[in-house]
Amino acid sequence: MLLENQTAIVTGGSRGIGRAICVALAKEGANVVTCYAHGAKAAEETVSQCKEYGVQALAVQADIAKTEEVDHLFEEALKVTGSLEILVNNAGITKDGLLVRMTDEQFDQVIDTNLKGTFYCMRVASKHMMKKRYGRIVTVSSIVGLNGNAGQVNYAASKAGVIGMTKSLAKELGSRNVTVNAVAPGFITTDMTNALPDTVREQMAKEIPLARLGQPEDVAHAVAFLVSDAASYITGHVLNVDGGMAM
Ligand code: NAP
Repeated sequence: MLLENQTAIVTGGSRGIGRAICVALAKEGANVVTCYAHGAKAAEETVSQCKEYGVQALAVQADIAKTEEVDHLFEEALKVTGSLEILVNNAGITKDGLLVRMTDEQFDQVIDTNLKGTFYCMRVASKHMMKKRYGRIVTVSSIVGLNGNAGQVNYAASKAGVIGMTKSLAKELGSRNVTVNAVAPGFITTDMTNALPDTVREQMAKEIPLARLGQPEDVAHAVAFLVSDAASYITGHVLNVDGGMAM
């Protein structure tokens, strides 16, 4: 039990990678608080999967693109044990389209959720972790934030921005014993990628040296490592979890 007596906030834990992260942290003994935008029932399923490991778990409806809802999420989370050791910024969306046809709304929605939402959560968490002189923050970026992708200028900008914020905050909080790292998943099988046309999925699969699509658990294992004591001398790092796709 690497994370016993710790409390983690994982944004967007109602499904996909977020759910797998919640369950992986619960398996290591962490209490888990997650949030969701719309999927209340799915989030409750995540909560019950976490509770199977004997930890406390809670799901809160909170749109991370709204700073007051992020404040509410942290208030609810702090009621669980009164402390916060881990933040995983996982919630994210796509609104794909070629740049010439991309609307202001498509661009803003993705930046507001993926980049500003991460900023709001990191700002609140940092205050608690600085006081405690302990913390583990992991952001979920993407290899698209490293390499770019046609049809995803908004998403790529948000995920590249997340990497810049991660490294900057790692420098700000290092002396307080708070590590800040990112994972950059490649092509992981979730609702987000299931929405892509088969031709795109097939093409992407051909570009993966490990010759398989990733599973949410592949990312969750990397996050569980980064928040553990085993990673206590790692900060400002971007860990690709992509089967070698972005080499
Ligand atoms: P997903 O299956 O679409 O799940 C997204 C999760 O985020 C859901 O729990 C959703 O909640 C939540 N969410 C979305 N907008 C939110 C908001 N404004 N406030 C609170 N929660 C919100 O996505 P996924 O594939 O698991 O992706 C998780 C993260 O990994 C994202 O940041 C994504 O960009 C990143 N990523 C994914 C891949 C991939 O291949 N799948 C690759 C690289 C990076 P509701 O269900 O309630 O809407």
